[in-house]
Amino acid sequence: MSQSPPASVASSTANQSEPAKQAMSAYRHTKIIATLGPATDSKEKLTELIHAGVDVVRLNMAHGTGQWVREIVARVREVSDEIDRHVGVMIDVKGPEIRTGPVDQPFVLGIGDTLRLCVNESELTDDVASVTVNYPNLPRDVEVGATVLVDSGLMRMKVLSKSASRIDCEVMTPGSIGSRRHINLPGVEISLPALTEKDKLDLQAGVEAGIDFVALSFVRQASDVDELRAYLDELGSPARIIAKIEEQAGVRNMLAIIRAADAVMVARGDLGIEIDYQRLPLVQTELVQACQAEGKPVIIATHLLESMIESPIPTRAEISDVCNAVREQADAVMLSGETTTGAYPIESVETLKSILLTIEPSVSSQLNQRIQLHEPKAKMLRSSATLAQDLGQSGIVVFTRSGFLAYVLGALRPRGVPIFAFTDVESTFRQMLLPWGVEPFLMEFSDDPEVTIQGALERLRNNKWCPSGVWLGVITNALADDKIIDTLQLRQVP
Ligand code: PGA
Ligand code: MN
Repeated sequence: MSQSPPASVASSTANQSEPAKQAMSAYRHTKIIATLGPATDSKEKLTELIHAGVDVVRLNMAHGTGQWVREIVARVREVSDEIDRHVGVMIDVKGPEIRTGPVDQPFVLGIGDTLRLCVNESELTDDVASVTVNYPNLPRDVEVGATVLVDSGLMRMKVLSKSASRIDCEVMTPGSIGSRRHINLPGVEISLPALTEKDKLDLQAGVEAGIDFVALSFVRQASDVDELRAYLDELGSPARIIAKIEEQAGVRNMLAIIRAADAVMVARGDLGIEIDYQRLPLVQTELVQACQAEGKPVIIATHLLESMIESPIPTRAEISDVCNAVREQADAVMLSGETTTGAYPIESVETLKSILLTIEPSVSSQLNQRIQLHEPKAKMLRSSATLAQDLGQSGIVVFTRSGFLAYVLGALRPRGVPIFAFTDVESTFRQMLLPWGVEPFLMEFSDDPEVTIQGALERLRNNKWCPSGVWLGVITNALADDKIIDTLQLRQVP
């Protein structure tokens, strides 16, 4: 399985006078994640999305079924094989997300009206507007006077009274309630399990289909991540875990959560409701820096190009928001509504890509100063990054089965230096699509390291990632007196 450059890089190599010099300078470090939905889950649209530069696709299980997961993952893999460009697949399970139940007709509520939230259907009445919620302990866990936000923060309510099986709320901001609306209870410790029964069914479907990442919603503490990991182990899945930080306990416990997880998502949609929204940029920066210190990938999610759901061009503020993510050196930026139901899904990916490619060269090329490297081998990785930056028009080649070396190299943030990561493990190959700056390749490893290295260098040249003659830093094992030693070698592309 060979990984060709995405269309943007491939087309820029059409100029044969200086082919790969351009390919290397068009190298994009920041990864693009697109959530799939009706606007993008056809074969045709998936092909366009991947050509446009998407690295990872997300399946949001707030809306998806197990059957959809099976179909979509198969379709994504089929498209990837056809166009020779592979992507990671992330399944996003909802965890302790609170939602209202179904309603026959959306109902309109004005200021001062009452909305009754019931934990079972028998409480529903006709005399007050009432709807069920999927949270049996709601009346126990909220206080009279507390704030309840309905429909992703759009409708604000205050708890007036409660009984064992329902709460009555006064509507403070008007709106209408449709089926399955999202509820936020800022600051309330929600007593729902980290993984629901539906999450487990969704995960079974996802694992069978061969997903690469699992995003867990509303992570509150490290043990939520441990619980998911134990379940994935039970299912025999090597998928990496992305902890979504989107409420107050998750922010408080960020360090332990980052350590327990494989990556983190700054889930700004809910986070901006659960904390005071003016603090959102501060929490974003805190999370990004904490992830960089721990060497874990971090994703900036939600509302990056929100206006492009309806408009073919972004707002100026959105361009600046994406620019900020690039300057903070997040590993990836994520699209949600823009690519699920938006009118301009492909344009959104192209817009994101052009902002990333334009801003990245202006970002400092100083290596990550926050990360602590203890092992000699990790320090050698840092030297390889410095070496490649010093050479200019260079890159790093690394061979890895677990992906660990590629994740560390990405965390070092060697701006301007492509990290070409070769593996012979298919799951590792796709898991390396997430971290900053890593371009993965799947390849058989030979018993003779020299054969492996030559194969990798030829692959880079043939796929137009590097022109012949370019010097690369190669991290590999070598045999010395029957002992395997770690080496950093200087190699020229044949
Ligand atoms: P969601 O998560 O899209 O699943 O709600 C992301 C966010 O809250 O930002
Ligand atoms: Mn969310």
